[in-house]
Amino acid sequence: MKQLFILIFLVFGFTIGNAQKVQKSENPGSKATPNGQQKTPQAQMRFNFAEQEAIVKKFTKSFDSLTPMQQNIFFTNVKHIMDPEVTKIEPGINDSDPPSDAIVLFNGKDLNEWEEITWGPGGPGEKKPITWIMKDGGMQPTSSSGTAQTKRVFRDFQLHIEWKTPAGLPETATGQDRGNSGVIIQGNYEVQILDSYSNRTYRNGQAGAVYMQYAPLVNPSRKEGVWQSYEIIYTAPRFKDNATYFTTPRIMIIYNGVLVQNNVAIQGPTVFPGIPQYIIKEHGDGPIQLQQHGNPTTFRNIWIREL
Ligand code: MG
Repeated sequence: MKQLFILIFLVFGFTIGNAQKVQKSENPGSKATPNGQQKTPQAQMRFNFAEQEAIVKKFTKSFDSLTPMQQNIFFTNVKHIMDPEVTKIEPGINDSDPPSDAIVLFNGKDLNEWEEITWGPGGPGEKKPITWIMKDGGMQPTSSSGTAQTKRVFRDFQLHIEWKTPAGLPETATGQDRGNSGVIIQGNYEVQILDSYSNRTYRNGQAGAVYMQYAPLVNPSRKEGVWQSYEIIYTAPRFKDNATYFTTPRIMIIYNGVLVQNNVAIQGPTVFPGIPQYIIKEHGDGPIQLQQHGNPTTFRNIWIREL
């Protein structure tokens, strides 16, 4: 990981340096070609095409080791590069359908992508086979189930997930006891799931919150028992050698089609109770977990795209 960051800095440094050279060479005083002719705007646009391609080729070996997102960041610093062509994928018929490059984590047919863990005072316990069941049009925990988690682990991703809180809960079930669940990212950072249609609780603990850290910008909740959706775009943290954040985790959440978290910087693993203590724990790629909080919240149509 450390070597990767050094590489990125080297690549970016070189590229930015080159971009500055490009800007200098494109100023009005240097538009004339060696034979004294003025360049057309189109020719000026093409001026450094070959040079920029050469930069990419020079770094091709290292470039291939970058993730797709890192490659894309690289290209923002280089103008008018044709290759490699942006990958064509097939979107779903509906925007909630998985596109062709998604990993389908649950489509209503089986629970093969899932296992289970129990949580105790010291955190997650042993892994065991999933005991969640398929019911009410999706997957949901039984009263004795633990938290579900993907067998796969992920770093940066786009996640689509649909959920509904249980209908018909008694009026005595209020606040955090009403349809509580959550999407826990990399085993550390919880996006809260709750019946927040007409159920006041602390603002940074309602549906759409980065639990105990960021309240949602607005509350677009639907009623209990009605399907709702999250689109979660997540960038994992990178760590320094001393296990503190080099960059914090960042998250964007679109809740029922409405932006509720705008690329906020997560301050540390989710903690309860009290204000976040921001104790940073170094970790690598991690699973998507669906919290078992004693309520039969149901999930369906879960897919993820690695970035
Ligand atoms: Mg929760």
